[in-house]
Amino acid sequence: MKHSATFLSLAETLERIRGTASKKEKVALVSAFLKGLTPRDAEVAARIASGRSSERGSRDEAQVGYSALLGVIREVTGATESAVSKSYLKHGDLGELAEELLSEKKEQPLFKEELTLASVDDAFARLRGTKGHGASAAKRAIVKSLILAATPLEGKYIVKVLTGEMRTGLVSGLLAEAIAGAFGLSEEEANRAHMVLGDIGVFAGKAAEGKAAKVEIEPFRPVNFMLAEPYATAGEIAEHFGRLVYAEYKYDGIRAQVHRSKGETRIFSRRLEEITSGFPEIVAAFKDSKREFVLDGEAVPFSDGRPLPFQLLQRRLRRMEEFEEAARQAPVTYFAFDLLFLEGKETVDLPLSERRRLLQRVVTGTTARTAESVDVATEREIQLAFRESRDLGYEGLVVKDPDSVYGMGKRGSGWVKLKEELDTLDVVIVAAEYGHGKRAGVISDYTFAVRDGDRLKTVGKAYSGLTDREIDEMTRKLKEITVKDFGYRRQVKPEVVVEVAFDSVQKSDRHDSGFALRFPRIKRIRDDKGLADIDTIAKVAGIFSGQKLKVDEAA
Ligand code: ATP
Repeated sequence: MKHSATFLSLAETLERIRGTASKKEKVALVSAFLKGLTPRDAEVAARIASGRSSERGSRDEAQVGYSALLGVIREVTGATESAVSKSYLKHGDLGELAEELLSEKKEQPLFKEELTLASVDDAFARLRGTKGHGASAAKRAIVKSLILAATPLEGKYIVKVLTGEMRTGLVSGLLAEAIAGAFGLSEEEANRAHMVLGDIGVFAGKAAEGKAAKVEIEPFRPVNFMLAEPYATAGEIAEHFGRLVYAEYKYDGIRAQVHRSKGETRIFSRRLEEITSGFPEIVAAFKDSKREFVLDGEAVPFSDGRPLPFQLLQRRLRRMEEFEEAARQAPVTYFAFDLLFLEGKETVDLPLSERRRLLQRVVTGTTARTAESVDVATEREIQLAFRESRDLGYEGLVVKDPDSVYGMGKRGSGWVKLKEELDTLDVVIVAAEYGHGKRAGVISDYTFAVRDGDRLKTVGKAYSGLTDREIDEMTRKLKEITVKDFGYRRQVKPEVVVEVAFDSVQKSDRHDSGFALRFPRIKRIRDDKGLADIDTIAKVAGIFSGQKLKVDEAA
């Protein structure tokens, strides 16, 4: 049997990848590293390179909090609190802090054993499996043994994976390209395999086995969702399609992929995480179904024929301890709008008109529903459908081409969306402050950032939009992920994604992005989105220049 590759060789490769700005070179480096690895090593290496320690869609994550990691680093190195703070301020990255401090270790491992990809992956599996009473101490012990055995460079990448902050510039498209190069797949084969398998590691493993060219959707393995292209007006949509299309209501809930096979139902989120336990009504809706299928749709808080405010659903997702009460307040109906797999076969390549016909059969006889839809062709018809949707309490429309295939992971032109409001931005909270007056004692002011390549750049500070209860929850959460506590202000791990509405974008030197949002307010907490999904500085700049155009036109 082939031995597992050393973890050091992966850490060195990642270091080289971070050191080059050239995408081509990044791809070549990963490709060269993956070539010749065993399928298991290829799986582990690709997953770690993508910044994850566990498979997407797996039930458990190997989560270790910032404070536990800092605790282990201090224990192993004997570094003082102020040395740790200084290093964090210098690097702004826990991985780099680990590398700097680990060059001097106070403790040494009992047996010096070289870390391999397999041994690191085994440790991650143990972390995932550690639950219940005493779990945090057990997890710390596992992390400690890893860090003790690690060289400073290895320590850096172990910490980076455990915090989910790889920052090597290896976006998943580049990784997929590198896997294709290493194992001789065409771009199309690689993209498809990646979207079907969901997890980049599983994809690399299959590619190393020579089995990636023929992968198919399987029940209980979530696939990447198709997304909609935003359009500003009904007129543009009519022009884009130029013929009869389906206008479906845009339901305001949580995107959910429902898998059913052999009498079992499992549900996955947009981030391909399993969320079955949060939606007993959806499980119940399909309990008598004898079919095998994968559906795409939206879980919507809904009662007496009307949608309920989305916030009710969020509360229910976050406060599991009061789940029953919250579920009573916000009962969920599943509105299915697509069918990806039926009775052992993929359906993604069938035209939407055909998928909808089959979908109707799957949903009939259950307590789930299919999305309301009207046939439209002209600007006026789209406008009317839009008004009707808004009047009924929905968000707008998703307009779809009846001939389009289901483009997994694509923001395809086959689906376009129309919403009423000005653009919103999905941003991540990077710092927070205690409020004043009525809000004294709770953390209610949030500084947030957008993405600029590998970096985060702040664009504003929001004080409003959340309910008192949400602020309490946010206070608890932000305390947990505090990286540095300055008393009234805290720097936090960039993890909480919020959607902000605002009046306009201004140029400003108050924030390091060079822009500031005017009158930002939080529309909602986006638990369904992660750091990888936040908006970019390019989008902010685009909104800014769009506004300027209007001013120029008026002048
Ligand atoms: P948004 O913030 O507008 O919800 P998003 O980034 O989550 O957008 P997009 O693909 O851009 O996702 O917009 C479409 C979203 O609208 C889907 O993710 C889905 O959650 C929701 N949706 C509601 N009704 C429908 C529908 N009938 N068809 C497709 N998507 C729908």
